[in-house]
Amino acid sequence: MFIKNHRLQGEEVTQYKCSKNKTKLRNHIALVLHYTANNDVHAAARYLTMPGVFASAHVLIGRDGEVIQMVPMDTEAWHAGKSTLDQLDGLNHFSIGVEFVNHGKLLLMNHRFYSWNNKVVDPSEVYILEDPHTGHRSYWHRYTQAQLQIGKQVVRQIVRHYKIRKIVQHSDVSPGRKIDPGEAFPFSEFKALEYRK
Ligand SMILES: [Zn+2]
Repeated sequence: MFIKNHRLQGEEVTQYKCSKNKTKLRNHIALVLHYTANNDVHAAARYLTMPGVFASAHVLIGRDGEVIQMVPMDTEAWHAGKSTLDQLDGLNHFSIGVEFVNHGKLLLMNHRFYSWNNKVVDPSEVYILEDPHTGHRSYWHRYTQAQLQIGKQVVRQIVRHYKIRKIVQHSDVSPGRKIDPGEAFPFSEFKALEYRK
């Protein structure tokens, strides 16, 4: 996998068109990690490229390791919204957005796990976080190994190509407003991919 003309190249990559995004990125300071809050990579790609939807991203990583690029990496995508990093506002102007297909935070009701939109999630796909002090538990949709593996390859390529020194979670730059990619995401493994030369 490599990048040419601001598009990922490789047999595992599918390219979509996203005609609503046209403004060029000012620069490539950061890469922002997200979850989609759904469970279907093609449904997510269709939604994010719809003309009337005020949301988009550069790359989408599916649960079986699918890679879909929607917006070229020299162009702004609408993934971060109101956000701040090192006193710079509006990360959409200077960052790449990578979305992972994942239901996000789950609810436990009558011994069943549910996504925010009422989809039942199998217990084998649930990550349980227990607060050691309060004993309070929260439930999160697990990421798949295939997804994390290809996700790291994609992030590594982007970071290297654009010399990106800051990899952040959406929750880091929009605190109090966003919780993605959430507690089930192995963020330190991605943070370690930051450009260091
Ligand atoms: Zn997000």
